[in-house]
Amino acid sequence: MTKSIYTKLVAIIIVLILALMAVVGAFLMRGVRNFYINEFYTQMREAFSGAVMAGDLRDAADEPDAAARMADILRANSGQLGINTGTRNYYILDGLTGAYITGSDPVAGPQLAVTRNILTAIDGSEGYASNSSDDYMDVALPIRGESGSFIIYIIDNKETVSNLNAEIFNIIIEAIGIGLLFAILLGLLLAKTMVTPIQSLTKAAEKVAAGDFSESVENESRDEIGVLSRTFNDMAGQLERNIEDLQHAEQMRKEFVANVSHELRTPVTSIRSYAETLCDAGKTMDPETEQRFLEVIVRESDRMTKIVQDLLTLSRLDAGSIAFDFQTFSFEKSVRDVYNAQLLEAQKRRHNFGLEIEDGMPEIRGDRARVEQVLINMLSNAIKYTPDGGRIRMTAGTKDGCVWCTVRDNGIGIPKGDIDHVFERFYRVDKARSRESGGTGLGLSIAYEIVQRHNGRMEIHSQKGKGTAITVTLPVGGPDE
Ligand code: ADP
Repeated sequence: MTKSIYTKLVAIIIVLILALMAVVGAFLMRGVRNFYINEFYTQMREAFSGAVMAGDLRDAADEPDAAARMADILRANSGQLGINTGTRNYYILDGLTGAYITGSDPVAGPQLAVTRNILTAIDGSEGYASNSSDDYMDVALPIRGESGSFIIYIIDNKETVSNLNAEIFNIIIEAIGIGLLFAILLGLLLAKTMVTPIQSLTKAAEKVAAGDFSESVENESRDEIGVLSRTFNDMAGQLERNIEDLQHAEQMRKEFVANVSHELRTPVTSIRSYAETLCDAGKTMDPETEQRFLEVIVRESDRMTKIVQDLLTLSRLDAGSIAFDFQTFSFEKSVRDVYNAQLLEAQKRRHNFGLEIEDGMPEIRGDRARVEQVLINMLSNAIKYTPDGGRIRMTAGTKDGCVWCTVRDNGIGIPKGDIDHVFERFYRVDKARSRESGGTGLGLSIAYEIVQRHNGRMEIHSQKGKGTAITVTLPVGGPDE
């Protein structure tokens, strides 16, 4: 990864430097060329339009040795004309043919080409024209005197500007070389600042992929990688929470399955052992014992049926697949009916059993059968978990748009640490006692779910050894209000 980002960065910087240098170089070289050409023509115009040299040249043209005199004047002014025999020369040409007469370079002079400016001068005008694509620049001025017509010709072979541009070119190549070195260093530096946080992100991502959420990515910067790092941390946190939830749910499921297996195994084991004894004994068993064994088998089968039925009800409540039959009904009547239905059982246990209902209780909206199931559970628990001859009171009333019913007993009570758990599935304070009295540990869980579906609530107050008060409260308008 380091290598690829590094290579890309270096490539980008190199291309940038090359492009920049090429543009700068091209503009610089063209600028130098144009400047040099302009300088040449300005210099020539200034020199020849000045009164002194022009007058001297015209005067010389009247003399018999005109060409030599004119050449002398030009030589004398070579400083002003920038004459440098290597690159810039002066010549005196024949005014009618453009043929060489004399000049600063006697070797090149006779081979001079007849340029556009020379033709202009032959025609009698001043030739100052320039063409930047030519590899020379020249000026041709006609001079007419008594000894004939001449052309003053100055030509520059642009070698200076070519040399200068070659020098510029070299400088640019050198600059590109140094630029490339910079590109490599800068690329390394940039790649490092970019790659280090990406590497730590990758490391953290690998850890998360392996299920380790302990490490978060440190990056406080405000750039895109910083934002990415923080988003990654958020995501990892969210993921960790979800996984914890899943693990918790999975743990609950396992415990539940273990509980169900255990709860079912107990009656199955006793059914099996009683049935086996019956089989082994054959006809030798006395009818009384046989009858007792058969009763145990029936009772344990009933227990299993009840557990399975309760589990089914719970799973349907969980899945929301139980359709509640919401109707308007008299809560007061339900309380009375449940009380009356349990009266016999309470009397059997010699409980002091009483009912008190406030006057004028309203009708409520709810699933009557299921609300009664909750009341039965509360009352039968009070009967079950109160030693014979106890005191049990069922009271009901109205408060703040809700109806309530409390079942209070002076039974065994629930230890403080267990109160919060009694709504959990299969939770029983005393398993043996609960089983003895036919309990499954699912009654309050089911009651709790039913009350939830009515938007109501259940509360337990209890003290070990003193007794328990359990209250259900339901909104009069049902779950919609
Ligand atoms: P169970 O079928 O065992 O009665 P429940 O879900 O109805 O199951 O109750 C859960 C547990 O709560 C019971 O096993 C019991 O330990 C405790 N409990 C419920 N009601 C009372 C009560 N009135 N007095 C004492 N303990 C109670």
